[in-house]
Amino acid sequence: MKRYQANVCAAMLAFRVQIWQEVLRNHPRGLVVNTAAILGVAAIVNPSASNWFWWWLVWSLLYSGFRVGWYFYCRKHVNQHPDLPVPEHQIKIHHVLVVGSAIVWVIVAWMGLPVFAAKDKFAIIIILSALSGGATGSLASLRRTGKIYIGLLIIPACIRMLMLDDPSFITIAILGFIFAWVMISSHENNYRLLERSLFLSMRNEDLIQQLSGKNAEITKINTELEQIVEERTKKLQYLANYDLLTNLLNRRGIAEDSSESDSALQHQLVLFIDLDRFKQINDGLGHDWGDLLLQAVSQRLAELVDELALEWGSKRHAVCRWGGDEFVVTLVGPEVSDGRTSAACKYLQTMLSQPFQINSRQLQVGASIGVFERCAYSLAKLSEAVGYADIAASEAKRLGRGRVVFYSEILSDIQRRKLALTIALSQAHMDGSLKLVFQPIVSASSGEVVAFEALLRWHSSEFGPVSPVEFIPLAEESGHILKIGNWVLTQACKEAQLWRQQRPSAIAPKVAVNTSIKQLIQADYVNEVRTALKNSGLPENHLVIEVTESVFDESNMDQTLTTLSALHNLGVEIHLDDFGTGYSSLSRLREFPLDAIKIDKSFVMFSDEKSMAVIEGALLISHKFGLRVIAEGVETHTQLDRLRDLGVDELQGYLLGKPSEMTLTHFIKEDEVSSPHNMGR
Ligand code: C2E
Ligand code: CA
Ligand code: CA
Repeated sequence: MKRYQANVCAAMLAFRVQIWQEVLRNHPRGLVVNTAAILGVAAIVNPSASNWFWWWLVWSLLYSGFRVGWYFYCRKHVNQHPDLPVPEHQIKIHHVLVVGSAIVWVIVAWMGLPVFAAKDKFAIIIILSALSGGATGSLASLRRTGKIYIGLLIIPACIRMLMLDDPSFITIAILGFIFAWVMISSHENNYRLLERSLFLSMRNEDLIQQLSGKNAEITKINTELEQIVEERTKKLQYLANYDLLTNLLNRRGIAEDSSESDSALQHQLVLFIDLDRFKQINDGLGHDWGDLLLQAVSQRLAELVDELALEWGSKRHAVCRWGGDEFVVTLVGPEVSDGRTSAACKYLQTMLSQPFQINSRQLQVGASIGVFERCAYSLAKLSEAVGYADIAASEAKRLGRGRVVFYSEILSDIQRRKLALTIALSQAHMDGSLKLVFQPIVSASSGEVVAFEALLRWHSSEFGPVSPVEFIPLAEESGHILKIGNWVLTQACKEAQLWRQQRPSAIAPKVAVNTSIKQLIQADYVNEVRTALKNSGLPENHLVIEVTESVFDESNMDQTLTTLSALHNLGVEIHLDDFGTGYSSLSRLREFPLDAIKIDKSFVMFSDEKSMAVIEGALLISHKFGLRVIAEGVETHTQLDRLRDLGVDELQGYLLGKPSEMTLTHFIKEDEVSSPHNMGR
């Protein structure tokens, strides 16, 4: 309510100022008309008129002069203090002056009408009418005073005319009254119009002010929005070009970074760095540790590359996380010899393989590096260059990790062969090019063949015989291993059932089937095994599934554990193959339903102190956990004797029998093989 009253007061004050401006605007015209009328009357009225008339003339002109002075005084005040309210006395004096000028005319009309000649009377009446008509407009801003002015101009003159006792003047007087009424009411109308238009213009101004306020607000909001959009764009650009985990450039980021420098490209070195053993840490310790390790590696790598770039005077350099545990480094600058590049890569490898202290743990990785020199082959895109460096890095990995390999055309040939082999593999399980060979596994104590390991052979019509070492990884990568693995399982079960049928009286050897982790994580793998057993008629306890340490991978552990437990419950044996090559913790041996471990042939064949220590340790733990130990890759009698002395349960190797299509006839029927003393001799 108070606020409303305050608003009303402010509006009233503003209105008063406006109306005063209006008064002052009309004032000069009123003065000019008034003075002109006075001079006109002086010119019309006979000079013989009485003395009072001349006094009247002088005084009224002086009065007009005073009003002119007053006008300038008020105008000056308004100009000097446009924001101040109009002083009350100025308004009042102005009203008095207006009434005063009307009285000037009352005097001339009252005194002149009885004495002036008829034409002068009419002249006076016309002048008064004109003045009062004009006042309806020029004095519209003075609501009451304007009406008083008009009334004083006409009514006294009309009364005086009535008193003249002249019928024509009486008529004019009556017309004068009517005229006065019309003038006064149109003055009121004009006042209202003026009031309305002033209020409207005030409201307009108010609205404009409000609008400009809103405009300022909108401009502010716009600026804020622009800022937000700019920040978001920067953030999106960052997200698009950087890897969030390591804050290194991502694939897109390095491509953009490189394309900018394309024109200036003289010589660019592209390094593809693939971490060794990272997968084991990631799977063994969990992804959180893996992430922390990747961050630490990234930071160290970025620092090392900065150092290298400085030393070489490289114009540009960039480090990118290509994906997973793979990094790409680019260095643009002066050409350096292969020897220097190689030395720099070795230095990177050495520094990266220094242990990382992460929270309470010390973690260590290695690095395989592929090198590609971009100037040597004029290539359009960085991605192609990275592709070649990647091929070189894969070769480094294949050669046994921790190596530096420079790209060469031969590597591309290998890549092409891999692709062609993968394509051919898709049909292999159907085109008769696959077959199984069997290698005996014998008991160390009795020398009896307790099982045969089924090993896959591929004789491709296009490529000839291809080693499983070459094609199994390709089959795993491409997923063809699922069909191939099922084929192996089915064939192996059929074969093992034949062995049983051929020697019904003796205990037939089991069949050990190599199984890829890709197969194990299939939801229906257990059913596949059941089907293979059922179709062949082989009892469950005659089947051995060989799995590698990849079953301990954190990512699939739940699924593999479920599958292996189900198989174990069926009666199928589970053997852990290639023991010692992975990164599994020994405690896992107890968590998984295992029956035996197979020590990898690399430990058996080297037979040095370290290998022996691994074998002894494995034996100790496995036996504690109730697991049998099988040693594979036995080639010499020395190895055989040592392994037997150490307490290995079963043996496998070329010494005891090479993988062969022949099984029973070749191995079991020969009595000397079954004698522990003659074993392998
Ligand atoms: P693995 O399971 O470790 O199989 C043993 C490998 O060692 C076989 O190679 C075998 O021929 C070889 N070997 C056996 N005794 C000796 C020895 O005294 N000295 C030497 N130097 N080597 C010996 P192969 O047949 O070339 O198989 C290589 C690998 O391919 C296998 O290693 C296995 O990982 C994989 N593989 C073979 N067949 C299959 C299969 O049907 N399924 C799956 N998933 N993998 C298979
Ligand atoms: Ca095996
Ligand atoms: Ca093995």
